[in-house]
Amino acid sequence: MFSEFALHERLLKAVAELKFVEPTPVQAAAIPLALQGRDLRVTAQTGSGKTAAFVLPILNRLIGPAKIRVSIKTLILLPTRELAQQTLKEVERFAQFTFIKSGLITGGEDFKVQAAMLRKVPDILIGTPGRMIEQLNAGNLDLKEVEVLVLDEADRMLDMGFAEDVQRLVDECTNRQQTMLFSATTGGSGLREMVAKVLNNPEHLQLNAVSQLNETTRQQIITADHNQHKEQIVNWLLANETYQKAIVFTNTRAMADRIYGRLVAQEYKAFVLHGEKDQKDRKLAIDRLKQGGVKILVATDVAARGLDVDGLDLVINFDMPRSGDEYVHRIGRTGRAGNDGLAISLICHGDWNLMSSIERYLKQSFERRTIKEVKGTYGGPKKVKASGKAVGVKKKKTDAKGDKKKVAAKTPTKRKSANRPKAEAPSLVSKDGMAPLKRRKPEAPAAE
Ligand code: AMP
Repeated sequence: MFSEFALHERLLKAVAELKFVEPTPVQAAAIPLALQGRDLRVTAQTGSGKTAAFVLPILNRLIGPAKIRVSIKTLILLPTRELAQQTLKEVERFAQFTFIKSGLITGGEDFKVQAAMLRKVPDILIGTPGRMIEQLNAGNLDLKEVEVLVLDEADRMLDMGFAEDVQRLVDECTNRQQTMLFSATTGGSGLREMVAKVLNNPEHLQLNAVSQLNETTRQQIITADHNQHKEQIVNWLLANETYQKAIVFTNTRAMADRIYGRLVAQEYKAFVLHGEKDQKDRKLAIDRLKQGGVKILVATDVAARGLDVDGLDLVINFDMPRSGDEYVHRIGRTGRAGNDGLAISLICHGDWNLMSSIERYLKQSFERRTIKEVKGTYGGPKKVKASGKAVGVKKKKTDAKGDKKKVAAKTPTKRKSANRPKAEAPSLVSKDGMAPLKRRKPEAPAAE
């Protein structure tokens, strides 16, 4: 029960208004510590209820009578505009019975309007690092009195190349008393470095051992012969599965556009979301999806980041994501806050090893599914190794566009791993079992 937390009655009233009954595990673990002012490092996926886990303690700290605001007291940094917008909404919903004001600073919005908002000094400032830095450079932003700093989806901010911007903003918060860092994954060395630099004796709450992810989401694979066959399977699924809203993930914009075009041609109410779409298109897509006018979204990973859409209960991986972490992020779109979801990955010959790596990373075995009406010839490798990988499948290399290329016949002899003893073939799972199996090159934010 939320009433067990030492939260102000006005916040408990808002919680009740929102019909939150039981705190989610991340809320149960983080709220008491955050209320004590502890620095936190929380590993929890999107959809776990982590926003409320940091927003409620922040509001509790700020709550008080109406007064003239002279400084920004809380800074919340997130990787994408949508996530920032959603967080603002969440803050406003919880703050509805208080005098606390919040403001949003993201790219794609009017710079001067933002500067005017900053002159009014919000208590809580939410936004993305790039535009924050621009406002800082323009002399519009003073973070010296920030007491609480939140880095949400920190792993993703690093993936998107925001490390320097984030560090600069952190350094601006010279008087901060509490820092909370959230990430969906345990991240790599970049995240560890940031944790060491930014957090002061943090409590590490690890809410999503990846193996326990998405208990409410069934995860299936369907084998396919080639991309055209995958398209047939997508058509079948969208026509025959029971779902409220679906998202089809591709690794490239070109494929997203292609699938979108096919769906529209079949008169599906669909939308496509990728990096070439501007902010207006993105807003429109998300609003339509939320309102239910659009049932199907075709998206690339970065574009879909931070989506929180009720009723999104079917995820189709047209292309297998390039890493276990990305898979976790994608699947985090469905089965949110306890609702049932279904995630289906379409697997060609060239996708098999990646799929089995992700299974090992998650310590899960995806359900194999065959659909009679669209069954192809490929049904998985004839022989698999103990690792689950196909025996004798030539390695394929993925270029920046996601196109598969044959690896050159000669493999370079001087590789870092060459010194490793044979028995220690590079493991996909790190010693703590949580590291990404294969990090793809960070996608530049501008590219998406
Ligand atoms: P988040 O992980 O913060 O993006 O939250 C995912 C969704 O779960 C949001 O729509 C929240 O409003 C909702 N949510 C968060 N906490 C609870 C709760 N305790 N009970 C019901 N819904 C919740």
